[in-house]
Amino acid sequence: MTTMSAYEIAESVRDQKVTATSVIERSISNANALNPKLNAFLAIDREGALEAAERIDSIIAKGGSPGRLAGVPIALKDNMCKVGLPTTCGSKILEGWNPPYDATVTKLLQSEGAIIVGKTNLDEFAMGSSTENSAFGPTLNPVDLTRVPGGSSGGSASSVAAGIVPIALGSDTGGSIRQPASLCGVVGVKPTYGRVSRYGLVAFASSLDQIGPFTSSVMDSAITLEVISGFDPKDSTSYDQEVGSLSAQRGLSIEGLRVGIVTEFIDGSDPEVVGALRDAAEGLARLGAEVVEISIPETKLGLSAYYLIAPAEASSNLARFDGVRFGLRVEGSNIEETNVLTRTKGFGAEVKRRIMLGTYALSSGYYDAYYAKAQQVRTLIKSGFEQAYQRVDVLISPVSPTTAFKIGERSLDPLAMYLSDVCTIPSNLAGHPAMSVPYALDSQGLPIGVQVLAPALREDLMFRLAFALEESASGVPTLDPSIKEAIIHG
Ligand code: GLN
Repeated sequence: MTTMSAYEIAESVRDQKVTATSVIERSISNANALNPKLNAFLAIDREGALEAAERIDSIIAKGGSPGRLAGVPIALKDNMCKVGLPTTCGSKILEGWNPPYDATVTKLLQSEGAIIVGKTNLDEFAMGSSTENSAFGPTLNPVDLTRVPGGSSGGSASSVAAGIVPIALGSDTGGSIRQPASLCGVVGVKPTYGRVSRYGLVAFASSLDQIGPFTSSVMDSAITLEVISGFDPKDSTSYDQEVGSLSAQRGLSIEGLRVGIVTEFIDGSDPEVVGALRDAAEGLARLGAEVVEISIPETKLGLSAYYLIAPAEASSNLARFDGVRFGLRVEGSNIEETNVLTRTKGFGAEVKRRIMLGTYALSSGYYDAYYAKAQQVRTLIKSGFEQAYQRVDVLISPVSPTTAFKIGERSLDPLAMYLSDVCTIPSNLAGHPAMSVPYALDSQGLPIGVQVLAPALREDLMFRLAFALEESASGVPTLDPSIKEAIIHG
């Protein structure tokens, strides 16, 4: 278990209390020791990470400044590019593809001294809520190995929860950072759409995708987001507006802050999940927040709109995987046959389902009834949130209607799987920031997160509330005994 936070690691490395090399050695040893049980990593880069660590140590030895995340081991979800490592997106279709460039987030992290130790497992092309849709086998939840870690960024959530790395990045199109964060008991943040550059993130649904951190503490997420956010000329949707100091929100009073509990997200959630949320609300009220319940009826339409918009965009984005340029190619007798054979072999069932849904929604004769209608609903959801934010400053809700479910429990029932994201999808449609803060445990010891939602570009308020929630959180999950046993302590 990484007992130190990223913040503490960087400080100890800079103060020469530990070397970056020793920090990385331990992280890699744990990745290697735990991966046979968790399947959280698709690549572990011992050589590259140790080389980077030596560079950090030599900068420090020469009195240079190694950066805010000096020597901190970081894992990237395997849909983000880093030169020198394959990017698979959890798919067979990208077999053997090595990106020729770094994602902007990769560069920004490295420029602050962070060290990428590996790439994490995911549902194929980030489509899923359990990481069971990976072509490379499912990732398991380190709290209970019979259960899913959530998805699609399950490998990132699992690797942070198991203490292999203090920070991992994920991507969130409909909940893929927040839901696995909640199911594994770690912090997970989806920033405002446009806050973090998507350059070098393999696109799923471009108008919804955002990159964000998984960490054990709210402070580490605040620091990571400060590092990775900012304008990028390579992503035309990125904002030219400073995120400001999120870490400075710790300890600020929430007295008088107006907090709304979203009624629609409570309906349909498990009683234990709702109970944890109510506890959290009471804790916030004791700290002086004004808590009210608020209805945003438009959010009920989120799931239906999302499953038209996201597949539509995916069907277009995934057209580039045709056996010509990237990865796998199954030769046919002509180009069309090559396309068909390659895509039939390279894509898994869920990706094919999404491509078919999306192509249908965009096809002539159906476009107005499905895609255009879903876009109108999207506008309604956004204005529903905007009206709510005239009455309250921030919102809270469950992250996921249930705690971690069993491996296999929902894999044959796509609708049951899709329902995992009812509480998270609306923020993606609105483009607003939202995060999961670990709050309590259910009667089986499984983590329950609380979602904090804020208006666009108000990550400051979101973090202020998250820091307060973290203070009153009641349960730290116990790791599965076989994971605990395998951890190599420093
Ligand atoms: N589970 C949702 C889906 O399958 C969200 C995925 C995501 O956020 N990448 O589309």
